[in-house]
Amino acid sequence: MLPVPWELETVNVHLVELEEGFLLVDSGIWSEECFDSLQAGLSERGIAWRDIRTLCLTHVHPDHIGLSWNILELSSAKLVMHRAELEYLAMVARESRPPFFEQAMLNAGVPEEMLARMDRAMRDVRRNYRTHQPHQVLEGGETIPVRGGTLQVMWTPGHSPGHVCLYSPQHRYLISGDHILELITPNIGWHPGQDMLAQYLDSLESVRPLDVDWVLPSHGGPFRGLRERIQETADHHAARCGEILTRISRLPLTAHALVEEMWRGKLSPVHHHFAVFEILAHLEYLERRGQVAAQARNGGVLYWMPGK
Ligand SMILES: [Zn+2]
Ligand SMILES: [Zn+2]
Repeated sequence: MLPVPWELETVNVHLVELEEGFLLVDSGIWSEECFDSLQAGLSERGIAWRDIRTLCLTHVHPDHIGLSWNILELSSAKLVMHRAELEYLAMVARESRPPFFEQAMLNAGVPEEMLARMDRAMRDVRRNYRTHQPHQVLEGGETIPVRGGTLQVMWTPGHSPGHVCLYSPQHRYLISGDHILELITPNIGWHPGQDMLAQYLDSLESVRPLDVDWVLPSHGGPFRGLRERIQETADHHAARCGEILTRISRLPLTAHALVEEMWRGKLSPVHHHFAVFEILAHLEYLERRGQVAAQARNGGVLYWMPGK
């Protein structure tokens, strides 16, 4: 468990024993405190940097990828990550933000002053981003040999386009990354031209049949009851869609206005930006199913219920 300077407070990395050395899953955030904590955790277990032979990144969010460049340099480990995440990283690394960020936020009706604050905050957490050259580019379905068995790579897009989970059929655990968390539901990303919520719900279903005793998430402790948590998470998104429909049935609203109504407490710029993308992903899902209509107006795209 490593410290991160956000409301999430900590992020987990996972070590799995290989025939020789270790696989490290994720890296922690780019900060001195996090680096020191990772180094202390390794040396407590008698593990040197060079013992890390493989680094697998579940996805490229700052709390998962932040120290990966340092770790690769110190350990000479082989890097494995999903193709879609590598492509997304290449986009984000160019200007410390996705190229669609500004237009998406303006379409969502985010005021310029708030947009500038979000942009500064997000560029700051990604300021060390560079591209990666993985040793192996994953598509999902691969197996990684580990001591006493294998880990199966499950491609689980939704939270991020190339998110992966790692499943141990022999030891019945799932390293779930940010795909499934016990106490909160992961943010759904929004990417132009993609139905990320539908992809996320499909990804939830894709891990439902797995025979899992323990879920090992990136945030919070290990927990049991994968299928119950999948159901609760799917129900949460159905309820959120319902809430959006109720609100826009009264009055056409922008995504930004929906965020203001649904998160009454003050969100930090980083969290406000996640919340806008989350709402956009739900609106996209509803629009593609004919439940929501949208039209660009001055000050952003307005959404309403057709026939209302
Ligand atoms: Zn994440
Ligand atoms: Zn995370």
